[in-house]
Amino acid sequence: MSDPINSVVILGGGTAGWITAGTLAARFNREQEEPVRVTLVESPNVPTIGVGEGTWPTMRSTLKKMGVRETDFIRECNVGFKQGAKFARWTTGADDDFYYHPLVQPEGFHNHNLATHWLGGSTSESFSNAVCPQEALCEHNRAPKQIGTPEYAAVANYAYHLDAGKFAGFLQRHCTENLGVRHILADVTGIEESETGDIAALKTEAHGKVSGDLFVDCSGFGSRLLGGHYKVPFRSCKDVLFIDSALAVQVPYEREDSPIATHTISTAQSAGWVWDIGLQSRRGVGHVFSSAHTSDSAAYGELARYLKVSEGELDRLGVRKIPIVPGHREKFWHRNCVAIGLSAGFLEPLEASALVLVEISANMLAEQFPASRAAMDVVARRFNETFLYRWDRIIDFLKLHYVLTKRTDSRFWIDNCDPATIPDSLQELLTLWRYQPPWHDDFDRAVEVFPAASYQYVLYGMGFETQPAAHGVSRASLEQAGQLFQQKGKATQQMLAGLETHRNLINKICRHGLQQI
Ligand SMILES: Cc1cc2nc3c(=O)[nH]c(=O)nc-3n(C[C@H](O)[C@H](O)[C@H](O)COP(=O)(O)OP(=O)(O)OC[C@H]3O[C@@H](n4cnc5c(N)ncnc54)[C@H](O)[C@@H]3O)c2cc1C
Repeated sequence: MSDPINSVVILGGGTAGWITAGTLAARFNREQEEPVRVTLVESPNVPTIGVGEGTWPTMRSTLKKMGVRETDFIRECNVGFKQGAKFARWTTGADDDFYYHPLVQPEGFHNHNLATHWLGGSTSESFSNAVCPQEALCEHNRAPKQIGTPEYAAVANYAYHLDAGKFAGFLQRHCTENLGVRHILADVTGIEESETGDIAALKTEAHGKVSGDLFVDCSGFGSRLLGGHYKVPFRSCKDVLFIDSALAVQVPYEREDSPIATHTISTAQSAGWVWDIGLQSRRGVGHVFSSAHTSDSAAYGELARYLKVSEGELDRLGVRKIPIVPGHREKFWHRNCVAIGLSAGFLEPLEASALVLVEISANMLAEQFPASRAAMDVVARRFNETFLYRWDRIIDFLKLHYVLTKRTDSRFWIDNCDPATIPDSLQELLTLWRYQPPWHDDFDRAVEVFPAASYQYVLYGMGFETQPAAHGVSRASLEQAGQLFQQKGKATQQMLAGLETHRNLINKICRHGLQQI
């Protein structure tokens, strides 16, 4: 074969670098007689971003494919289970204003659209409470599985909350000790190009040249290869999503046995929102906001009020300010270089979409891995087309959370509803959904980051009005819906009775471990 691709060099040892390394090495070093060599180069001086603690359920299959034991991961990365997100004060700003985006789909969702029946019915139950058990599990702080449920299996669908710093170290050990990834600690100071314009090697002072056939840019916001070397332009979306600053802090629990929330809590503020993530030994909390709508010091004050501490106490906890540039590169794969992680782009962490994009990027790279240089441009074109679509869908989905607000108490919320800031693709869907609830046909890709169910949870959680179908619903459909609502009621009762509290389960896993599959 001409120019076979035998070696991959990954620049960057943050979560993106190690997830990519683990995904590629597990695939090639286990499944092929002639493995592809995977090398990861990481600077001892440039720190990783150190945040990114909310994930998506895809993380279970990502870790399982790498051969990670779920028990080890939970013990070593301070992990809690995540069963969705609770959005507080997003619609009206009142104290009792909240809705859930759970991870369990509405009952019977593969072939029955319960939203139609919820909209036409007389129930006063919230949408997510009416169609799935998970809001109740979160409100009662129940774990999504039992100690006897095997590793990675679930009673209720779940993702994780994890300690970002510990996670990168954990993956590094697994990749180097079990999957044969070569790890080089060195600053990359230059890039050597071949005559064709491909990258031939990364230049380092400590280890000389590190050459390879394919280079993965996981160098974080710096985007050393795709942005820095190849100058692929950045496409900002600040005119749609205004958040551009974060204040992040780690908060200890009041007591060692304080309950651990089993969902991300996302509480709207005057010019942004606060995330609150429960790990085993601490919470990770942060205020993301629009610097065009508030000042750093006002945002700091709001974070202190959220945590119910004085600004002096907040100072002592050590708050980190992180600038955010919302948007992404115009393409992600150029010549023999593909960017994954922050080097490809970043959007506010409202729905934990960054790590899931890393996972599906690494997966697509592994699955469609170009066998030769001749095939690479075709794979690159497909990769770029697929991920441009994904970034656009994620931008639409995040913006959806803002356009449905009824808040008018600050410029931030008013400006967010300005039609000029809403992408045409989202406007079009909103028009459609005035007359029919979201359904599978609205999103036609095999892998959608946010499926129709996610749109339903946000739309109806925020009180969006869809007119009932003019042609009515059939008797058979009504009967089936009745059965599904009953089924959901029974499932909720059984789960509440059979699942213990989140902290109890975590303690048991740390002591005894989960059953291996
Ligand atoms: C405020 C905030 C909150 C977030 N919350 C979430 C969340 O809840 N969920 C989620 O999914 N994501 C979240 N993210 C995103 C998430 O943090 C990142 O997607 C994830 O950590 C991956 O980062 P990375 O590996 O791309 O970059 P980094 O962690 O920045 O790693 C970059 C790596 O490149 C190396 N490097 C850079 N330059 C050089 C050089 N010249 N030579 C050698 N090495 C070099 C560095 O040493 C480092 O190892 C959040 C991000 C922010 C900013």
